[in-house]
Amino acid sequence: MDLKNLIRTIPDFPKPGIQFKDIESITEHPEAFSHVVERFSEAMEAHDIDKIVALDARGFLFGGALGLRQKLPIVMARKKGKLGGDCVAETYALEYGSAEVELQKTAIKSGEKVMIIDDLLATGGTAAAAAALVNQVGGDVTLFAFVIELDGLNGRAQLGDVDTVALVSF
Ligand code: IMP
Repeated sequence: MDLKNLIRTIPDFPKPGIQFKDIESITEHPEAFSHVVERFSEAMEAHDIDKIVALDARGFLFGGALGLRQKLPIVMARKKGKLGGDCVAETYALEYGSAEVELQKTAIKSGEKVMIIDDLLATGGTAAAAAALVNQVGGDVTLFAFVIELDGLNGRAQLGDVDTVALVSF
C-alpha cells in the first residue's frame, strides 16, 4: 500500500509556509486505515505492551483502532483542561510559546509497559512530553509509533533510545 502517495498536503496551514500533512487522507480510506493498524500491530509484537497512550487529538483515531485490534487498554494524553480527575501535567515548548498536556494519575499502573501513539512526529516535543507524563506515574515507555515522521526536524532525538516506528517519512 502506497501510503505516502495517499497523504494529502495542505499548503499554508495552519499558517503561511507550513505544509500540513492531512491524516484524514488515511482514515477516510478503510483499506489504508486498516493497513496502518496492521503495520502498528506488527511493530508492537516484540514489545509485550500493557497499555496504549494515544495523543490528542489525531492520535486518538490510531490508538483507538489499534487498542481495539490488540485488545489492549487505551488511555488519552490530552491538552490541559480536557481530562477530569487528578492529573499529572507537563509543559513543553512550541515554536511560539508553550503547551501543556495531562494524563490522569490512575491511567497507568507502576511498571506497565506503554506504547505512545500519534499521527505525526515533527520536533518530538509532544511525544517527549507524553513520555514524561507516563514516567511521572511510574510507567515504562517501550515504543513510540507514528504514521508520519517529518525528516529534518530531528524529532527522534527527543525520544531517547526508545524504539520508534514511523510508517512514512517526508
Ligand atoms: P511535534 O511536537 O513538533 O513533534 O508535533 C507533533 C504534533 O503536532 C502532533 O500531535 C501532530 O498531530 C501535530 N502536527 C504537526 N504537524 C502536523 C501536520 O503536518 N499534520 C498533522 N499534524 C501535525
